[in-house]
Amino acid sequence: MDLAAVGPDDEHFLLELLNTTPVVDGESRDDLAEPNVARAWMRAHGVASSNVELAALRDARSVLQAVVRGEQSPSALQRFVDSVALRPTASRDGVDWRLTMKQGMGGAVRAVLAWDALRVSSPGRLRPCANTECRLFLIDRSKPNTARWCSMAICGNRMKARRHYRRARAGDE
Ligand SMILES: [Zn+2]
Repeated sequence: MDLAAVGPDDEHFLLELLNTTPVVDGESRDDLAEPNVARAWMRAHGVASSNVELAALRDARSVLQAVVRGEQSPSALQRFVDSVALRPTASRDGVDWRLTMKQGMGGAVRAVLAWDALRVSSPGRLRPCANTECRLFLIDRSKPNTARWCSMAICGNRMKARRHYRRARAGDE
């Protein structure tokens, strides 16, 4: 019985979803706010681009962001998994298990299950960027598990420069 419902694609999907509310030039942006842009994003990520899907996806995104930031309990995810069931189908090859869910919940369920799979397989590795002005998330795949920035090139260097500036200034006093 193979119940592995979550793969690397789903982790990637989850991270991309969490990162659809970046701060660009100091301003928060929502890549799923504009329906046409959102629908293109959903199509590119294999999610049916209906209004119901979009609403559920945005809802799941904000709860998952709060959960990963430690601001909300994972029990807040209940409403996204309410309709999820495993359904067996017997065929000439054997028994096939499939996840079923209420229509319009495909993307939200995929993100929530990917979050849970990461929680089990890689505890603590999905986290917010340590730059407090950055709203992005990262999945740390490094062995020592010490990555702090969504991107070394952007936030890493920015934070290092700031620390350096602070130290240099403290030295003047
Ligand atoms: Zn960052």
